[in-house]
Amino acid sequence: MTNGKRKTPQSEANRLSTMLRHVLGEDRFPVDVETLAHEVSRNNADPIRKVVGGDLPGFEGMLRPHRKRPEWHIVYNDDPRYRGRVRFTIAHEFGHYQLHRPALTEHDYASGQLQRNCDFHCKPLRSNAWQEEERKREEEADIFASFLLMPLDDYRAQVDGQEITVDLLNHVTDRYGVSLIAACRKWIDFTEKRAVMIIARDGYAKWGRASKAAFNSGIFVQSGMSIPDDALAAIGADEKGFVSDTPVARPAGVWTFSRGSEPVRELAMVSEFLDMSLTILQFDDTVDVREIEEQAPWDSYDQFRSGLGS
Ligand SMILES: [Zn+2]
Repeated sequence: MTNGKRKTPQSEANRLSTMLRHVLGEDRFPVDVETLAHEVSRNNADPIRKVVGGDLPGFEGMLRPHRKRPEWHIVYNDDPRYRGRVRFTIAHEFGHYQLHRPALTEHDYASGQLQRNCDFHCKPLRSNAWQEEERKREEEADIFASFLLMPLDDYRAQVDGQEITVDLLNHVTDRYGVSLIAACRKWIDFTEKRAVMIIARDGYAKWGRASKAAFNSGIFVQSGMSIPDDALAAIGADEKGFVSDTPVARPAGVWTFSRGSEPVRELAMVSEFLDMSLTILQFDDTVDVREIEEQAPWDSYDQFRSGLGS
């Protein structure tokens, strides 16, 4: 199976997801990725033998080979601040195992100890600190994790074209066992509606992403964009959690993007842990997008992902 063409992260995740559906049926969520990693790797010469939490300052997780025999261990950061991301992190490391690891055999241990260095140390991406090849590898592991934990057809069925509300987000994060950010990012990537998500800290966008439809209508989030003073996340900065349960209609003039300002429906959450806010803006779908010029490529989302992880 590893011969021939290279596996893409999405196709490999979908293959495993289909297998889970056949074995477990519709009750396969949230995906028990630890058991899956053991089961899938069991018959390899270098199986995954351990999935454990550990103290990993600065890292979300690691995939590393045993020094004395051909097997791999996944270690995830068990700091409580990372709790919501554990499943995603394990899936990410499992993605490295399926997609990127060198297959180890007894031969690699002929001297009694593994001589090569093939550890994967994973941290929230910092665009400038990563070499291009590492960045690609990290993105692939994220894509694998995202499609494994949140299969597209299933997620679409859960949302079914509805507007995003807190109830719906809670339903999705419960179903898939992922963080709010991971769930929102996935939705933004597949929704056909015009929407953006913005992660902000200290009044500035740290990371943002527009849906394809929004991007095609000239809406995108610039790194470092300042958050309007009357944005919900600014008004509710002293609150914790969601500022309101349902999107709040805001008039034109509150949020301005390159195409100008238009009314939005705004949902905002202020995080107690990470000193940051998450805003989701949903726009009217009845807009003429023909006037829009070509801008930066839509798929350039990791330009400022610093410090966020999944
Ligand atoms: Zn990684």
